[in-house]
Amino acid sequence: MAKRQALIEKLWLIGAILVDLADDILDETFEILKVGAEWLVDLAGSLVTVVDWILDHISWGITYFGILFLRRVHDTRMSLIKYRRQIQNGAFYFIVSGLAIAFLFSHYINYSYSYNGRTMGIVREQKDVLEVLDLASEELTQEYGLKVAIDGDSDITFKPVLSFKKEIDKPDNVLKKFTYMGDIQTKAYGFYVNGIRIGTVQSEEVGNSVVQTIINRYISGNAGDYDYVGINEKVRISEVDTPLTQINSKDALLKIIDQGTINEYRTTDENGNETVIKEEVPILTVKTVGEETFTETIKYETKTVESDSYYEGDEFVQTAGSDGKRAVTARVTRLNGEIVNREDLRNEVIIQPVTKVIIKGTKERPPTVGSGTFILPVNGGVDTSSFGWRWGRMHEGIDIGASTGTPIMASDGGTVITAGWNGGYGLCVDIDHGGGYMTRYGHCSSIYVSVGEQVFQGQTIAAVGSTGWSTGPHCHFEIRIDGVAYNPLDFL
Ligand SMILES: [Zn+2]
Repeated sequence: MAKRQALIEKLWLIGAILVDLADDILDETFEILKVGAEWLVDLAGSLVTVVDWILDHISWGITYFGILFLRRVHDTRMSLIKYRRQIQNGAFYFIVSGLAIAFLFSHYINYSYSYNGRTMGIVREQKDVLEVLDLASEELTQEYGLKVAIDGDSDITFKPVLSFKKEIDKPDNVLKKFTYMGDIQTKAYGFYVNGIRIGTVQSEEVGNSVVQTIINRYISGNAGDYDYVGINEKVRISEVDTPLTQINSKDALLKIIDQGTINEYRTTDENGNETVIKEEVPILTVKTVGEETFTETIKYETKTVESDSYYEGDEFVQTAGSDGKRAVTARVTRLNGEIVNREDLRNEVIIQPVTKVIIKGTKERPPTVGSGTFILPVNGGVDTSSFGWRWGRMHEGIDIGASTGTPIMASDGGTVITAGWNGGYGLCVDIDHGGGYMTRYGHCSSIYVSVGEQVFQGQTIAAVGSTGWSTGPHCHFEIRIDGVAYNPLDFL
């Protein structure tokens, strides 16, 4: 019994300790709740005070809206006081849900960012985009070799979005997206020629410098020295929105211009056949107008002088002509360097041209038929060996000694029948005088006539020499009738 008594007492003790402990816990909890409740009560109190204060002040202004209205307000105030406890609870829940919403917002409300209307991704904070823009601009500038600027104010737009379970870009990703964005739109300048856009450049300066480069090719020295320098076509450089990849560098645009363009036209011939004609034309034409000085050749003139000192048909150059030179100053219009118009202003002869003078003989030619009379073929010649038997054989002509090169003349008019090498006679000329008469001239050093040529009495036909069977320069001269040699001295 005693054991059971002791056990019961122990249980009681434990029970008492547990009750005390529970009391303590309840007291603590109550304290906490009481503090919280007091705080909420204070809050609600302040709310009522504020409402009171507002009402006090409003009541002043709204007296004339009537007692009824004031009463209503009064009723509202009374019910506020009456329902203070409920308001306190309401405020508590309001604050808790407010905090929860704020928490959700801070975690799941992020920003979708767009570049010129193109959505690119979501970032936690706007600064994650804005802070990499400069870096992105720099990388794009390197990538495309163009100056690319992304403006945070005008190019980028943000929109708050609920991003629960969506991918959030870190600044690194944002940078990558901008850098590899192929169709990045940018402000650029279209380069228009006669209204057709032939290229796009990043700035007006680049466009203008392309024009200047083209112009500079066709001007020498100072552009100011010209009366006019300009492009014939209408060039316009104006702002356009364009994908970044379509922007031409200065060199690329120059290349496009240098390639020129093909103009096509159709022509129809008289048979109705249509032909397409393709013509390569430059895209830009530089026109320059300016004074230029250059030297020009003055072609010599040719003058023919008639002279009765020479026979008809004889013609020779007395004075060789030579070109002169002059310095010309002219106003020259050029299109891409080609002269299209020239207006001479001054010119000065530097070297006078020399007129070529041709002498034309007018003296009547003597007849080229045999006259029947003969002359000695070499002037001032010496008869060194006579016609007749000599060293046991017949010498069929006479030998006239003269120095090599002395002219040999036709003894009478006639037709040349031999002009060339003839055995022992060496270089030899035979002339047929008609009526069976023939003369022969041997051992010549050169021959001036050819077979078939008509010669007149006294015409130079050859020169004295020592060709063939000869021991010194002389002319061997024969006269034959029907092939038979006679002593020439009998005919002179
Ligand atoms: Zn002889």
